[in-house]
Amino acid sequence: MSEVSQNTSAKLPKNTSQMRTIDVAVVGGGIAGKACALGLAQLGLQTIQIAPDLGQTVSAPQGSQWGQRIYAFSPSTQKLLAHLQIWDAVDHSRMQPVRDMRIYGDRGEKHDQLHLSAFEAGTPQLAWIGESNVIEHTLDQASRFQNKLERINDSVENIQVDSDGATLQLKNGSALRAQLVIAADGANSAIRAELGISTKEESYSQSGVVANWICSNAHLETAYQWFLSGGDIVAMLPLPNKQVSMVWSTSTENAAELLKLDQAAWTEKFSSIANGAIVKQLGLLTLNSMPAAFPLRRIRASRFIGPDDNPKVALIGDAAHVMHPLAGQGLNLGLRDVATLLHILSKRESFRLPNDKVLLRRYERQRQGDTSALLWVTDKLKKLFSASSGTEKQLRNWGLGLVNRSHFIKRRLIERALGDADFE
Ligand SMILES: Cc1cc2nc3c(=O)[nH]c(=O)nc-3n(C[C@H](O)[C@H](O)[C@H](O)COP(=O)(O)OP(=O)(O)OC[C@H]3O[C@@H](n4cnc5c(N)ncnc54)[C@H](O)[C@@H]3O)c2cc1C
Repeated sequence: MSEVSQNTSAKLPKNTSQMRTIDVAVVGGGIAGKACALGLAQLGLQTIQIAPDLGQTVSAPQGSQWGQRIYAFSPSTQKLLAHLQIWDAVDHSRMQPVRDMRIYGDRGEKHDQLHLSAFEAGTPQLAWIGESNVIEHTLDQASRFQNKLERINDSVENIQVDSDGATLQLKNGSALRAQLVIAADGANSAIRAELGISTKEESYSQSGVVANWICSNAHLETAYQWFLSGGDIVAMLPLPNKQVSMVWSTSTENAAELLKLDQAAWTEKFSSIANGAIVKQLGLLTLNSMPAAFPLRRIRASRFIGPDDNPKVALIGDAAHVMHPLAGQGLNLGLRDVATLLHILSKRESFRLPNDKVLLRRYERQRQGDTSALLWVTDKLKKLFSASSGTEKQLRNWGLGLVNRSHFIKRRLIERALGDADFE
């Protein structure tokens, strides 16, 4: 757990009356920031987005090389992107719908598995798997044609909140005023730290090793996940063209070893884990990207909005919460923050400004439940499957089989996995 202390904004200019003033400043250029900035501008709010990686638009991925950052996008994300009018513009030849999910326990027994099916749930798909850049590119294109949205390629160094709004000091020496600031500046959010919002933070001492593979067997539009004894989790997510995207959560030391493997060593590795089930299912796996590793941790901000007296700031995405990727939900949760915020601002009473305390409190209240539930479930699942005692091992494997036999629980699970975006 880490506490972040309040920072005094000594560098901020004193005279704010000469400064450029806008409705909303979105700090951060990840998918959450881009979607939020576009949505706010579509509401007619004069919006500026600031991030050091906004210098050029993300180019559309093409050809047989697939990006390293592959995500599972839930139906709640699809709903938001459709609302922002970009879902139809996404290159769907690079998005794979997921019809089934199969999750296997670590005893290697036939009944220790959970099968979730779109058909059984009466929905066309459970999720989509695709590259981050496909979504970012489409968001960039839409943002270019949005005249209420301006982008600044820079970092925010300081924020000072007062009764009218907030003043942001940028690295290039300039400053601007906004009625409302959206902190979408990621897991190490500078805005969160500046405002003295404390976090509960825990490192899993694990990394997520990601890589794309061409598989010789059909993946059957199925997302597979194997819990391995010892706490590792291997997910193989289907992609178009007989490819799968791997997320292997493992100890930091093992992740470093995995990054050194060549094709032959990987082939041997896959046949030696999960009793050979991965190879049996997907066939020969041929590496199709450079493997990379990302540290895994859990972070929860104690507040989702600025200080009580003058909130003026809303935290969204990883700035508010970071979770283990075993459920593939981190970004989806962040985009549900965006959906909720857009919904609240679009339905605001005509006498309320976008930075009204009441609206910001509404936002915080509405995001608490979804965030706490998802952080709790992913954390407990991760820990249950890392525990080495015989009882826990039996319990988790028995639990998978039990859930699998209950139509009712499976439906509830699918409903949760599909999520709900609240912005209409
Ligand atoms: C291995 C792995 C697999 C994952 N798989 C999935 C998945 O399948 N599905 C899913 O939903 N989620 C997944 N996630 C989670 C997902 O990656 C994150 O939740 C998501 O990328 C967070 O997006 P964001 O926009 O909130 O933050 P980020 O993408 O981190 O963006 C932060 C932005 O803020 C900018 N910034 C930082 N500081 C400043 C500053 N001072 N001033 C201005 N700008 C600043 C940065 O430059 C960047 O543009 C996965 C995570 C990992 C590690």
